[in-house]
Amino acid sequence: MTESPSRVAIVTGAGRGIGAAIARKLAGDGFAVGLLDLDEAGAKAGAEAIVADGGRATGVGLDVSDAEQVEAAVATVAEQLGAPTVLINNAGITRDNLLFKMSEADWDSVMGVHLRGSFLMSRAVQKHQTEQGWGRIVNLSSTSALGNRGQANYSTAKAGLQGFTKTLAIELGKFGVTVNAIAPGFIATDMTAATAERIGMSFEDFKKAAAQEIPVRRVGEPEDIANVVSFLVSEGAGFVSGQVIYVAGGPKA
Ligand code: NAP
Repeated sequence: MTESPSRVAIVTGAGRGIGAAIARKLAGDGFAVGLLDLDEAGAKAGAEAIVADGGRATGVGLDVSDAEQVEAAVATVAEQLGAPTVLINNAGITRDNLLFKMSEADWDSVMGVHLRGSFLMSRAVQKHQTEQGWGRIVNLSSTSALGNRGQANYSTAKAGLQGFTKTLAIELGKFGVTVNAIAPGFIATDMTAATAERIGMSFEDFKKAAAQEIPVRRVGEPEDIANVVSFLVSEGAGFVSGQVIYVAGGPKA
C-alpha cells in the first residue's frame, strides 16, 4: 500500500434513494465523493449539499452503460477530487414483467445498467485502485437474486453481480482491493414506491404489508444499506472480500 491512499469514492445512481444515502454517509466518513447519475441535476444537488456541510464532492451526469461516458466521468472525478479508490456500483432500474410479456428492450436495458454498467465502471476505476495499491468495490445485488416473480431480467442481473463480485475479489485482491456485494431486501425508495403504484397499492399499505413478512417487522431505509457500505469500505474490513451480505431484516427475502 502507498503511504496514504487517496480517499476518493465514486457512487453511481447517487441522485436519489440508496445511492444518495451512501454518498452522504461516505462524505461523513471523510471521503471526497463523486456522485454519478443519469439525472445530472440530482447528482449535482447531492454534491452541493455535501459541500454545504463542509465535505468535498462533485456531481457528474452519465449513463453507466455507455463506455465513453464512464471513462469521461471517472476522469472528471480524478481531476476534480483525486484518484478514486472506492467504487459503489449502485445505479439500477427495474423493468418488471412476466416472462411471456417481457420485451427484449426490458431485458437489455436491465442487463445494460446493472451488469454492463458495473463492468464498465469497475474497469475504469481499477486502474486508479491498482496504482494506489488499495481499493474497495461494493456492488448492489438484491434478495431478488434468489428468484422473484415478474423479475426474470432483474433477478438474473442481480445474481450475475454476485458472480462478478467473487471474480473481481479473486483478481484484485493482490492489489489491496476488496470487492463485496450487498443484497438489500425491501428498502423504501422511489423504486419500491413505483412497484406499489404498478400493482395499485398506496406506498404506505405496501410498506405495512411488506413489514409483516420481515423478521424485524419494518422495511429498510436507505441508511440501513449506507451503514453496511461504510463498514465494507473501511480499513477494518480489509479481510472481507468476495462476500454477499444480505441486508434484509432477516435471513430470507
Ligand atoms: P432508485 O431510487 O430508483 O435510484 C436509482 C438511481 O440510479 C436513480 O438516481 C437513477 O437515475 C440511477 N440510474 C438509473 N439508470 C442509470 C444509468 N444508466 N446510469 C446512471 N444512473 C442510473 O433506486 P434505489 O431503490 O435507490 O436502488 C439503488 C440500488 O439498490 C439499485 O441497484 C437497486 O436495484 C438496488 N436495490 C434496491 C432495493 C429496494 O428495495 N429499493 C432492493 C434491492 C436492491 P434517474 O433518477 O435518472 O432514474
